[in-house]
Order: sequence, then C-alpha cells, then structure tokens
Amino acid sequence: MHVHDLLVLGAGTAGLPAAIFAARRGLRVLLVEKLDRVGGTLHVAQGQLAAAGTSLQRERGIEDSPELHFADVMRISRGTANEEMVRLAVGAAAGTIEWLRAAGFATLVTDEIVFDHVAARYVATGSTRRVGVDAGVSLRPVPLLRIDADLTWADGVYVATGEAIPYAPRLLVVGGAYAERLPVGPVLLTAGLRGVVLGPRPLPGGFASHTAVSADLTTTVTHGPWGLTLDIDNVLGNQWRDGEFVFASRWDLDEPAAELPVRHFTAGTPLAARLAVSRRF
Ligand SMILES: Cc1cc2nc3c(=O)[nH]c(=O)nc-3n(C[C@H](O)[C@H](O)[C@H](O)COP(=O)(O)OP(=O)(O)OC[C@H]3O[C@@H](n4cnc5c(N)ncnc54)[C@H](O)[C@@H]3O)c2cc1C
Repeated sequence: MHVHDLLVLGAGTAGLPAAIFAARRGLRVLLVEKLDRVGGTLHVAQGQLAAAGTSLQRERGIEDSPELHFADVMRISRGTANEEMVRLAVGAAAGTIEWLRAAGFATLVTDEIVFDHVAARYVATGSTRRVGVDAGVSLRPVPLLRIDADLTWADGVYVATGEAIPYAPRLLVVGGAYAERLPVGPVLLTAGLRGVVLGPRPLPGGFASHTAVSADLTTTVTHGPWGLTLDIDNVLGNQWRDGEFVFASRWDLDEPAAELPVRHFTAGTPLAARLAVSRRF
C-alpha cells in the first residue's frame, strides 16, 4: 500500500507548486490530474506575473518594491482588495519569479504577446517599440478642491514590420474634479467626477476600435465615525466596445465551430452603482 502525507488534486498553476514545495520539504506527495497532461490553464494563460523588486527589474535599473506594488494594487482596486491577501501575494511574487528563473524559465519582456482567438492561446509576436508622451496637471484653485488632468499619447509598432500593435491604446485622456472633506452643514463631503476618453485603438487586420468615453462619480458623506459612500461607474450610461475580436464562434460545444470568422465585441463597463455604509472604530 502506498502511503502519502499529502494529496494534491489538479496539476495546474496552484497544484504544481504546492506539490513541488511539499515534496521538497520532505512530504510524500500524490499529485492527481484528471487530464492526460499536467499544467491546467498554464497552457493557455498569457504568462504575466506581476512582481516588484525582482532581479529582472534590477538588471534594467528599475527601482521597485513589494510596498509600492501593494500601494498600486490598493489604488487600482480603490481599496476594495483584501489587504491581507494582497500583502501575501506581493510579498511572495518576487521570490516566485526568482524561483521560476532559477528553474530555467525565460521571460519574454521584449516580446509583445497577442491573444490568438483561433488557436485560443497567447502567442509571442516579436519586439515592439512604444514612443509617446505623458502630461499631467493637478490644480488646487481653492482649498478643498482638486482638479486633475492627464493626457497620454503613445505610438506602438512592431520593430520588424512597423505595423501598429493591436489593442495598444494610443490616446488616453483622464480628468477629474474632486472636493475633499468639504464641510456641508453637519457632514463632510468628499466627491469626485472622473472622465476618461480612450481614443481609437488599432485592431488586427487594419481595423480600429471606436473612441470610448466614460465618467465615474464617487461621493462620500461622513458624520463622526459614520460614512456613506456612493460610487457610480459610467454615470453617462455610454456604451462602447471594450474589445473587438475576430474569430469563428463556437457558442454551442455540441455543434461544430462556425467556419467563417466573424467580429465579436465585449461591452464596456455598464452603468453600475454601489452604496456602502462604513463606521470607523
Ligand atoms: C486565457 C487565459 C489567460 C490567463 N492569463 C493569465 C496571466 O497572464 N497571468 C495570471 O496570473 N493568470 C492568468 N490566467 C488565470 C490563471 O491561468 C488561473 O487563474 C490559474 O491557472 C488557476 O490555477 P488553478 O491551479 O486554480 O487552476 P488550473 O490551472 O485550471 O488547474 C486545475 C487543474 O485541476 C485539474 N482537475 C480538475 N478537476 C480535477 C479532478 N476532479 N481530479 C483531478 N484533477 C482535476 C484540471 O484538469 C487542471 O489541470 C489566465 C487564464 C486564462 C484562461
């Protein structure tokens, strides 16, 4: 009879390292995979792994740290991410990169990757060059009011052919006005309206996506330890195409795939509202 200390079900992104590290630490591990090859979604994944403070960055003179990575995640998630999980992830990320590099994994940081919808996987498409400008301004015309504006323009092309990189944004304009803890009667009001204009993006086959315009609203009213926050995404209710893809559909897996590729769209952020009540202790 075989005796094992640990049973790992599924040899994918989570199962493989769990089994490897447990075995290295002396456990007898049984790794069970239902398919005839290990790897799970690793075979189709993009291969991106966000990590800060890695040897790859140091080799390129980039100063970064898990603390900055943590701050980025919390900023981008608008504070909604689970802090404990984020700390765990950003704290282990650089070590994971070093582990993968030591095991012989190469990185393709100089190569662009694009999702090939026919093969249903990401493919490396060669070196690219992006040239652009970014200009930003932040004003405080009166106390407690901040106005931000930022414009980014970039031209991204494949070095070998000079063709535009599909999906890479060319023009992004973000602007917003924010009132910060403005006394209104017995409450403090923090409110902001942020607008985003994303210019047409190049698509495969010489097409271009449409310009997308959206605006988000955030309002927080605080009274003592209590707070009431209302966030509205896409307050104008605009509709735009976030992604445009050309592939042969196969909506019904029991039917053969369509023979002719057609254009598909993914919708942009819908009009959505979130209301939260908070209390500070
Ligand atoms: C197209 C695509 C691109 C992605 N790109 C990225 C990326 O760039 N970066 C990133 O961080 N994440 C990416 N992800 C997400 C990432 O791949 C997954 O979140 C991650 O692989 C999930 O790991 P997992 O081990 O939980 O699942 P999986 O990798 O799916 O592994 C699960 C394994 O369990 C097996 N299994 C299932 N049931 C049983 C059973 N009953 N008995 C035995 N074995 C079983 C499966 O066959 C599979 O091998 C991408 C995902 C997709 C689909």
